[in-house]
Amino acid sequence: MLLENNKSLVKLNTFGVNYYAENFISIQNEDHIKESIEFLNKKRQNYFILGGGSNILITKNITGLILHNQIKGINVIKEDLESITLNIGAGVMWNDLVKWTIKKKLWGIENLILIPGTVGAAPIQNIGAYGVEIKDVFQKLNAYNIKTGEKKNFTKKECFFGYRDSIFKNELKNKFFISDIEIKLKKKESPILNYEALRLEFEKNSIPISLENIGSTICKIRNRKLPDPKQIGNSGSFFKNPVIEKNVFERIQKKFPEIKYFQKNKKIKLSAGWLIEQCGWKGKKIKQCGVYKKQALVLVNFGKATGIEIKELANNIKEDVKNKFKIDLEEEVQII
Ligand SMILES: Cc1cc2nc3c(=O)[nH]c(=O)nc-3n(C[C@H](O)[C@H](O)[C@H](O)COP(=O)(O)OP(=O)(O)OC[C@H]3O[C@@H](n4cnc5c(N)ncnc54)[C@H](O)[C@@H]3O)c2cc1C
Repeated sequence: MLLENNKSLVKLNTFGVNYYAENFISIQNEDHIKESIEFLNKKRQNYFILGGGSNILITKNITGLILHNQIKGINVIKEDLESITLNIGAGVMWNDLVKWTIKKKLWGIENLILIPGTVGAAPIQNIGAYGVEIKDVFQKLNAYNIKTGEKKNFTKKECFFGYRDSIFKNELKNKFFISDIEIKLKKKESPILNYEALRLEFEKNSIPISLENIGSTICKIRNRKLPDPKQIGNSGSFFKNPVIEKNVFERIQKKFPEIKYFQKNKKIKLSAGWLIEQCGWKGKKIKQCGVYKKQALVLVNFGKATGIEIKELANNIKEDVKNKFKIDLEEEVQII
């Protein structure tokens, strides 16, 4: 296990902000997790678990230890005529996994193509896109308790998945190191095309339905809307879409009849991007950061912004949305 000091994190977060970690360990296997836990217990240091750095905003140098997850491996652990269960190392890049499953003709996560980050972080916010969430294929995960070193198995029920949410963003935040996860995929053709923009793209262009075409069509739609972090620093959607009670919605709708919304069970999900756009933020640039011109939900670093500047921008947006709509935006991205 290699311990590095004063490690630059600029290439390890998709916002591309330049901060340093006091101590840094690249975790290649489960022994490295155990050794890191021993190190932490001895040194009594703060720590942070880092995956692909695509859902965080760093705002300061990190005192203590960063555990950078790099555990690889995709293994078939069960298979029958209809399905296949995979165990995947938490450090595998999510998009590599999706491309692998498409090649192997396995159905279930093709709609989640092009989401950056690692497999281990995917259950943390129950990643979702185009009508699918990881919870739909999730079986279980293994994780190490950082305090005790104990390895625990979490079933789907124990993860308490919600909209961009799980127990690992709440009670167990930063308490467990996820080492691997299990998902179950289908062998039989099972396209999920109920997301309107996706369905329309297939219909409009008469695209034959196949795993490859779902993958490539979603890539096309995503590339039209979202900036590539390699070119413009960002963390995808910065805020969650607010989910509100019907009576609150009706009050807002009276004042803003053109408001964008979706029915979500008995509640109403608003488009955070629309709310931000109505406050005049879309395409705005402040110093070296701003709001992406094609999607108001995405905050961007034009080059040399600091994490503090991006955080300030986010706070100003929140304040404007609160003043105009009386709605509290909640960050999807974790600010550290
Ligand atoms: C361009 C772009 C598009 C995106 N699109 C989507 C989208 O469509 N849908 C969506 O849901 N998200 C999207 N995201 C957000 C992001 O890709 C996901 O949340 C992803 O799962 C984050 O993975 P990561 O490895 O980068 O996590 P990180 O940012 O490194 O970490 C996120 C959190 O998980 C914790 N963590 C990471 N790994 C572990 C581990 N092994 N054990 C315990 N805790 C861990 C970290 O401590 C942190 O709290 C997008 C981001 C970008 C930049």
